[in-house]
Amino acid sequence: MNKSRRDFLTKSTLIGGALIANGINSNIFSKNIFINKKNKKMKLSFKPYTLQLKHVFTLASSSRTTTPVMLTQIEYDGVIGYGEASMPPYLGESHETATKFLSKVDLSQFKDPFEMETILEYVDSIEPLNPAAKASVDIALHDLVGKLLGKPWHKIWGLNKDKTPYTSFTIGIDTPEVVKQKVKEAEEYKVLKVKLGRDTDKQMIETIRSVTSKPINVDVNQGWKDKFFALDMINWLKEKDVKMVEQPMPKEMIDDMAWLTEHSPLPTFGDEAVQRIPDVIKAHGVYSGINIKLMKCTGLREAHKMIDLARSLGMQVMLGCMTETSCGISAVSQLSPGVEWADLDGNLLINNDPFEGTKVIDGKVVLNDKPGIGISKVLPH
Ligand code: MG
Repeated sequence: MNKSRRDFLTKSTLIGGALIANGINSNIFSKNIFINKKNKKMKLSFKPYTLQLKHVFTLASSSRTTTPVMLTQIEYDGVIGYGEASMPPYLGESHETATKFLSKVDLSQFKDPFEMETILEYVDSIEPLNPAAKASVDIALHDLVGKLLGKPWHKIWGLNKDKTPYTSFTIGIDTPEVVKQKVKEAEEYKVLKVKLGRDTDKQMIETIRSVTSKPINVDVNQGWKDKFFALDMINWLKEKDVKMVEQPMPKEMIDDMAWLTEHSPLPTFGDEAVQRIPDVIKAHGVYSGINIKLMKCTGLREAHKMIDLARSLGMQVMLGCMTETSCGISAVSQLSPGVEWADLDGNLLINNDPFEGTKVIDGKVVLNDKPGIGISKVLPH
């Protein structure tokens, strides 16, 4: 036994003895009180991974069949926290940029993982941008700290897990026959989400309405360039029982977007326009609500602050995702109780999920009681 370990045990015994002498049973205290912080260090490791998508993923501007992600781990005192960066190519991050960023992150300088604010401020200050790579550290740190506390984050935040929302399930743009088939396969989900912003928009909605009357949310991904056209479309969509419209116009068209929101019979949500905290303030008066994603906002800590800020500004909140493993989805779902809108189907769209965590049952987000972000590893990676 080395000297510091011996000193630590001696000190722990003395403290324990003192507590018992004072009539306090030391067993009621978490063993974490006795962590010898001097000799314990956090160790970050990371590994590139490629998600295989079940269907071709089509946006207004591109199509793809894989998504690059970075899987991270922070190890401390024999406990491992898991994290993830999901990096769809159109957002500018990649295995290369994440490797470069994460190589610069030195967590060994921090003695205490509970100093999350300090640690994550440091991570954010290393380089501008890199939000997904930063999120991969934030998520792993939350998982680690939750495990050290022995509690899931929804509990640490005081949220009631019975109040999770229904998640929408995305129906990709395709031929009418395939779209009808996809709607059938999505029977379990109570809300459908449709990507619009092409000249086939009305056909897509009509096709879905020919087979189901479920509520539909639409995401235009900045596809409509004219506010009058956009308002006509939204009025038409309202008649088709569409519930909300995400990012109808280019994010730069702020005045036109504010006009559209003022006249729109449906709530509008900023997605591409809202990355981090300052964007929430800019979105106020321009959109009815914001779509928060961990991969845009650098992780759970900032997402939590954004929710509070949006609420205080009277805005609605939606939690979204990229195509991600159950790691990223389980992390963000910890924030979902009480949020009205959820679009957390990213892990359901892939074939090679290395984790198991938050589930969707009968269309509803279902949290478990596992500590941290609530995941276990099911595939080696
Ligand atoms: Mg979107």
